[in-house]
Amino acid sequence: MISKSRFSSVCESVFQVVVPVQPPFCNLPTPPGVRRRALGLASQLRVSPPSGQSRGCMPRDDFSKALREAVAKRAGHLCSRPDCRAQTVGPHSDPTKATTVGIAAHLTAAAPGGPRYDVSLTRAERRGIENALWLCATHAREVDADFARFTVQELRAWKAEAEREAGLDLGHGSAPRAARLSADLAKASQRDQRISRLKRLYPVIGAQGLALEISTFNDLSQTEKAKLFDTVRALWKGGRPPKQNPFRTPA
Ligand SMILES: [Zn+2]
Repeated sequence: MISKSRFSSVCESVFQVVVPVQPPFCNLPTPPGVRRRALGLASQLRVSPPSGQSRGCMPRDDFSKALREAVAKRAGHLCSRPDCRAQTVGPHSDPTKATTVGIAAHLTAAAPGGPRYDVSLTRAERRGIENALWLCATHAREVDADFARFTVQELRAWKAEAEREAGLDLGHGSAPRAARLSADLAKASQRDQRISRLKRLYPVIGAQGLALEISTFNDLSQTEKAKLFDTVRALWKGGRPPKQNPFRTPA
């Protein structure tokens, strides 16, 4: 029979060996596989990791309550994901309270090994408002779960646009937002019509004419122009443009 204290000391040494939490290793993220195996083993042996070390040695650079409130207000309490804009605050059944379903998400993670973690930031920068983005709970989870898809650059653009819109809506009802959406839709429809016209014109004006036409359409977005120019360039690859309209969709 093994004594209880001997059993505990064996368990502790197993944990210490499998999870390298002592300096100088504590600044390095533990590989997930090793950590999973270690935690599985520890739970089988009913051993708790030493207190404060269950999530690694490095403390999380979490936001303060005041900062979380500021970032929520700056986004008008709406999710900053452009195609969401969900309201994230509302009434609670207790008349003195409110319910918040929004989260101040980190653009670059609060701790090593987290999504988009940037080792070059100082702790103050990591906990600063520049590193915070207001999102609904669903999208806060999504941007961290699929962090390869959501770059810091894209998230910064979401934040800038959300704050710009919140600024425009400040002190107004929903009418200005509806008017902006309607103007955006009208502009998009106009662009679509122009692109369709260019594609129809190809048999008449050819690739050179097409390039000229594209360059005069200033209301096309840079991406749309680049896409059309790319097609024109591809047409000339063989020395002469194809006789058939390359934009024609097969019937
Ligand atoms: Zn959302």
